[in-house]
Parts: sequence; C-alpha cells; structure tokens
Amino acid sequence: MDQYLIPPNSQVDLGEIESYYTGEVSKKKGRSQLKKCRKELMDLQELLYAENKRQILIVLQGIDTSGKDGTIRNVFGDVNPQGTHVISFKVPTRHELARDYLWRVHQHTPAKGDIVIFNRSHYEDVLVVRVQNLVPESIWEKRYQHINEFERLLVDEGAVILKFFLHISKQRQAERLLARLDRPNKRWKFNPADLDERKHWVNYQLAFEEMLSKTSTPWAPWYVVPSDRKWYRNMVVGSVIVDKLKSLGMQFPEAVPEIESFRSTLEGMIEDAQA
Ligand code: ADP
Repeated sequence: MDQYLIPPNSQVDLGEIESYYTGEVSKKKGRSQLKKCRKELMDLQELLYAENKRQILIVLQGIDTSGKDGTIRNVFGDVNPQGTHVISFKVPTRHELARDYLWRVHQHTPAKGDIVIFNRSHYEDVLVVRVQNLVPESIWEKRYQHINEFERLLVDEGAVILKFFLHISKQRQAERLLARLDRPNKRWKFNPADLDERKHWVNYQLAFEEMLSKTSTPWAPWYVVPSDRKWYRNMVVGSVIVDKLKSLGMQFPEAVPEIESFRSTLEGMIEDAQA
C-alpha cells in the first residue's frame, strides 16, 4: 500500500495520479479483502482500547462526492462505537471563527485508546478558505507549517495520524452528482451549491496539490487514494489502516496477579446465587 504514500517534500501533480486505478485487483478480490480488513479492524480496535496507550487520528479529505461518508461507513462499519468517533467539520460557527482555526479541531483529537475519524478537517483552512478567498494569502500560506507542527505535537504525545486524500476525476464527480437525481434516497444530498464549487475545480486541484506537497510528513503522512471506484477506495483505506495498526505491536494489558486464584471464589458465587 506504500505506493499511495506521498513521500515528504514531494511535488505532487494530481494529473499524474490515475483516479480510476485498480491495479491487478478484481472487484471480487477487492471486496473480499475489505471484508477481511473490517474483521481485523474490529479486533485491532479492541486491542487499542484495552491497551489504552495510543490514540489514532484518521483524516479524510476530498472534493464533494469523493466518498468521505461512504469510506467511513464501509471501512468502519464493524468497529465498536465505544472508542470510535467520527467528527464532521462544517462551516465554522461565529464562536469558532472568533478563535484560531485549530481551536475547534484540537478539542476533537482522540483520547488514548480511541480512534477519531475526521470527515473534513483543519485542512479545510488551506482548501475552501484558500479557494473562496475567505482569508488573504498572507494568512493561509503560514498554515501549512502550523499544521505540521500541530500534528507533530499530537504524535509526540502518542498519536498515530494517517491522512487520506480521496482522488476522483472531474467526470466521476459529474456522474455522482447526476446519480443523486436518479436515486430517490439520494436526492436529499443534491445541493445546487455543489455546482458552484465545481466551477473552482482547477483551483481546488492546485490547493490539494500544495496541501499534499507541504504537509505529508514522516509523522503524519498523506495517502492519495484512487477513488473513482468505490470498492477499490475502501480496500486501500482499510488496508493502510490495518497494516499500520498491526505494525504498532500492541499488547493486551497484563491480567491482575494470580487471576486463577479467583476462579474458585467466582464458582462459589455462582453456586450461592443458584441456591
Ligand atoms: P459534506 O459536504 O462534508 O458532506 P456539508 O455539505 O455540510 O457536508 O459541507 C460542509 C461544508 O463546510 C463544506 O462546503 C466545507 O467546505 C465547509 N467547511 C468546512 N470547514 C470549513 C472552514 N474551516 N471554513 C469554511 N468552510 C468550511
């Protein structure tokens, strides 16, 4: 899965990365691999929670319709909701805008033992904010460094950070927007404002490229995930997360000393309760 990793200090050109790529993997194989990942993730999350030593932060970014919600549903569908949290970042409130842009983010970073998934994130502050000119360049250009340092702080305090950019083509976005009209249970998702955002496609791609080039660090790497095919996207994200969690060498905590000595007491309690 390292083929999707952006090495630090690269110059990313999204035009050179195929969004429809699926390698040699068939859809059937991809789906069964995802199924395996979901099961492994369930066990690894239990271990993470029990060990209570590290915290996992997953960041998902991508243009509208790139599949952030679908990835969360498909990859994390089996994990214990206790210990896993999804945080969706929307347009900041007045209360949030009155503070620095990382303030609202820091409050939601994971506690030890937890997995937190950011559906959009602090990266919006160098994406939509840049494309829509919500603050001047002199302000947003400093944010790449702030973000790298902020993530470094989290990692120094025990966090593991994995960031996924869901890469889709312009054609695929149009198809997915149209599909929202065709499917009655998806119509509610259609927002004409998405068509206005689409007019800024090129500027978004530039903003994504700069984000990937400047903030893929050894401590918080970006993965660019070919996401035109949903099954492939889910498989890649699931596999990267599982591989990373396995590499941590997590251990269940030691049981209390002489745990077996409690067996007869507990058996006695059952007998008493039955009497
Ligand atoms: P989503 O598209 O994630 O399913 P919404 O349709 O509610 O959910 O969109 C959330 C909106 O909030 C997006 O348009 C996103 O660009 C915007 N947003 C998120 N963070 C910020 C931010 N820091 N500044 C301005 N807009 C933001």
